Amino acid sequence: MSESPPKEMLVFYNKAQCVDENVGYSPSAKKPKLVVEAWRKSGYPVVIQKIRALSVEELSVAHDKNYVKGVLSGKLKNGFDNKSLTVAKSLQWTTGSFLCAAVHAYTHKVNTFSPTSGFHHAGYNYANGFCTFNGLTITAILLKQQYKARKIGILDLDSHDGDGTENTISKTNSEDFISHYSLGGYSIQKHNNAEWLENLPDLIREKFADCDILLYQAGVDCHEDDPEVHSGHFTTEQIYLRDKLVFSTCKELTIPVVTNLAGGYQTPIQKIIDLHNLTAKAFQDCE
Ligand SMILES: [Zn+2]
Repeated sequence: MSESPPKEMLVFYNKAQCVDENVGYSPSAKKPKLVVEAWRKSGYPVVIQKIRALSVEELSVAHDKNYVKGVLSGKLKNGFDNKSLTVAKSLQWTTGSFLCAAVHAYTHKVNTFSPTSGFHHAGYNYANGFCTFNGLTITAILLKQQYKARKIGILDLDSHDGDGTENTISKTNSEDFISHYSLGGYSIQKHNNAEWLENLPDLIREKFADCDILLYQAGVDCHEDDPEVHSGHFTTEQIYLRDKLVFSTCKELTIPVVTNLAGGYQTPIQKIIDLHNLTAKAFQDCE
């Protein structure tokens, strides 16, 4: 059996998207750096790609402009429940990382990675649950407006409901070109998660076959040991299988995938990093 060489991982990252200051319970602000380092250390050929910060205009395609300006000027609270200008600035870069990764994936028909979190609870004019700007909806709308994408899929396998994504899709009347599935909107528990995983390829075929790109939230707070687990309750092996099924089914459908990190709350943070390593391994192992 001949072994194929490891695939390049195109990672859209800049340290400007990280925040060193303590921003509370969620580790998401410092996670990007740690995950990128871990992927490198695991021997995966990580190729760092340039990103840029999104403008007020770009963020406002999915949000009330006054809300965007309020957060960026420190007048309104961000999703971390503070008015830090450092945090606010980093959010223009996290959303920028995701958009740049998605544009590259869509334009070059390759899979890309954006080490970002903190998108899916952010609504049209509100922050919630560590989420401030909805990078998923923003990216979907910009892909359509600026790059003529016809249909965009959002597969959100974070453990929690993508309520902010629903809100921003509906407030911007984007239902006709965005197809959205959120694991957190369903009750997937120990007793039915094996069956859910078995059906995942069909779910992807039914919901996303006509999409030009899939925005994939590979959240790991759906792991059985996560203190915030809501839907999923997957074992470590099931998380790996989940990601392998996403990558292999999208390959079969020839849909490029842009993957981000989304939630994960286990401590120490190494447990979360180990799970995100499985996403990289699943990408490598996918034929
Ligand atoms: Zn979550």
